[in-house]
Amino acid sequence: MSPTTPTNPPTDDPVGGVSAEFPPQNATDEVVSAGVAERQREPNTPTRWWAAYALLPTGLARDVTFEVEDGRFASVTPDTEPGGAERLPGVVLPGLANAHSHAFHRALRGRTHDRGGTFWTWRERMYAVARRLEPDSYLALARATYAEMALAGIACVGEFHYLHHQPDGTPYDDPNAMGEALRRAAREAGIRLTLLDTCYLVGGLSADGHAPLSPEQQRFGDGDAERWAERVARLADDATTRIGAAIHSVRAVPREHLATVATTNGGRPLHVHLSEQPAENEACQAFYGLTPTGLLDAEGVLGPHTTAVHATHLTDADIEALGTSHTTACFCPTTERDLADGIGPARRLLDAGAPLSLGSDQHAVIDLLEEARALEMNERLDTLQRGRFRPDELLATATDHACLGWTDAGRLEAGARADLVAVRLDTPRTAGSAPEQVLLAATAADVDTVVVDGRAVVTGGRHALGDVGALLTDAIDPLWEDQ
Ligand code: ZN
Repeated sequence: MSPTTPTNPPTDDPVGGVSAEFPPQNATDEVVSAGVAERQREPNTPTRWWAAYALLPTGLARDVTFEVEDGRFASVTPDTEPGGAERLPGVVLPGLANAHSHAFHRALRGRTHDRGGTFWTWRERMYAVARRLEPDSYLALARATYAEMALAGIACVGEFHYLHHQPDGTPYDDPNAMGEALRRAAREAGIRLTLLDTCYLVGGLSADGHAPLSPEQQRFGDGDAERWAERVARLADDATTRIGAAIHSVRAVPREHLATVATTNGGRPLHVHLSEQPAENEACQAFYGLTPTGLLDAEGVLGPHTTAVHATHLTDADIEALGTSHTTACFCPTTERDLADGIGPARRLLDAGAPLSLGSDQHAVIDLLEEARALEMNERLDTLQRGRFRPDELLATATDHACLGWTDAGRLEAGARADLVAVRLDTPRTAGSAPEQVLLAATAADVDTVVVDGRAVVTGGRHALGDVGALLTDAIDPLWEDQ
């Protein structure tokens, strides 16, 4: 979701190798559970796995052996005997990619439904949480949230990060302290991170122009795009982290700064909230005489490295512009229904040439299987037709790592990063389902084993960090004290 009022260097795989950092090498006892310390002494992840079913790029395969070397698949071979390989239950999918996250919004789950309200009243609750977070509490909340993602089969998250500075807007001693907390959180939770550092300059857009940041928005802002770029230039990739960029929205970044963010980006992933609510379109049209998509197109923001998040309320010309520029459209169906945003034109965008990805966004739900299913179900409700997306198309949206800058992940094939997600086919939800249609039946609760970059993060439905529910409770409860 995208809250404002309606009114470095190149990217191509500078790291090369695959992480050996999970379990975390520099974790300290006060910040991680004893379970992690225990596992640090037992780095015994198997290098040969076997599954009765797997969804390979060629479709459903039987009796598949996966050989892992240095965090990548050395081979993926169907029609094999398990031999001494570690057996995986159910059907194996590639690692899922959560292309749009605001980790701290996880604290709002189950706390915003008592008074009805609107997107904008929801935002007031979100600000109440945002003003309490400091690097330590941000780390704890993000680590627990990312661990919940790992339990759901998510191997990589795109964090749309705008909680940059102290609550009054003063930078921390390390101006990237909050971003670094996210980096550490993902590493300790065992998943990869694309840190989409977000330019957020003004408080909203109306027909009269942009409003200054409100007091509760001060910590999001860098002043102008140049200062934003200087701060981001101090961040560097590592084995499990990619640095990308984001324009919060046309509401939060005035026109004269858009091209600066887009060009500074230099081929890295660039994400932007787009037309989530009709009010954004109305304000943009009234002030600029353009739709938000039209404005981004005019300023050179669209393109194959760009992802438009939500893309809910679009004109025919907007769909054409996003499709012909091959801008990815990231849908967040569980958020879009939670916030009463509407149903975006997913099928039409894909047909026009825009790849699709998925995000859990504000984390009312963290379940990419549910997001993929909702993509199809929303289309059915909207068009009165079934089968708008094939199951393999839904899997492609749920595993789109490319929009996060990881072009070597999301496929079960030799050379790719060794991410495996085993989904059980014998639970009350999935029993009797055809393996190739598992996305239409399973939930995150059916994920049994998750391997990221060759390392087992989740085994038997249990995260290496231990009790993720307890981690979430410990991180969230203090944020609501006296509120
Ligand atoms: Zn968002």
